[in-house]
Amino acid sequence: MILKVKQIGLSIEVEKELLNKLLAVGKTYYPKEFGGFLIGYYSEDNKHLHITDTILPKKYQAYKHSFERSTKGIENVLIKFYTENPRKIYIGEWHTHPDNSPIPSATDISAINTIINSKNTSIENPVLLIIGYSKTTVDFGFYVWFENKLYKYE
Ligand SMILES: [Zn+2]
Repeated sequence: MILKVKQIGLSIEVEKELLNKLLAVGKTYYPKEFGGFLIGYYSEDNKHLHITDTILPKKYQAYKHSFERSTKGIENVLIKFYTENPRKIYIGEWHTHPDNSPIPSATDISAINTIINSKNTSIENPVLLIIGYSKTTVDFGFYVWFENKLYKYE
């Protein structure tokens, strides 16, 4: 599927298979949150992003209403992706909201600031995917941090 933020002219593309995979992995941690890193590549004008893969964290702390991952141990996996395709880079993160909607919490927003200010994994426009799910519903919320604001892809 393709989603857009009209105001800033950005779009993302992601395959249903990847989303289903993230949901399936996330559900195995129910009722706790779970998540990981997103890998993808940008178009030459940096306006279009294709999200292709995930890297699951090796170290993390998962709770009912928060999820903290460590970047320890994922460097080699990132290098592997980059070696296969030098355009493939770390572009953001995903996590689940079990029994909840995919709306970023205050913690999620401060986590984005950590990403932007990180020495090792600094990216300017991180993408945040939140998967809100319950027994009967699933809702994927994609966001991008752009010029100090969080925008939702529609
Ligand atoms: Zn969250």
